[in-house]
Amino acid sequence: MSTERANRCIECSITNCEHHCTGSDFCSLDHIQVGTHEANPTMYECTDCMSFKMKG
Ligand code: SF4
Repeated sequence: MSTERANRCIECSITNCEHHCTGSDFCSLDHIQVGTHEANPTMYECTDCMSFKMKG
C-alpha cells in the first residue's frame, strides 16, 4: 500500500509507523482500529491505535 496518500480524516504524528503518510501528519489507511490496553479507559492515554505497524 502506498503511504503517499494522506487520509485527511485521520491525523497522526507517529512517523515510525509503516502506515504514516510520507511528508504530512496523516495516516495513509482508509480506516484504522482504535482500542485500549486498560480495563477501564478514562483518558486519551488509555487508547491505542491497533492498526500501528512498526516501519521496516
Ligand atoms: S496506523 Fe495508526 S499509528 Fe499508524 S499512521 Fe495510521 S493512525 Fe498513525
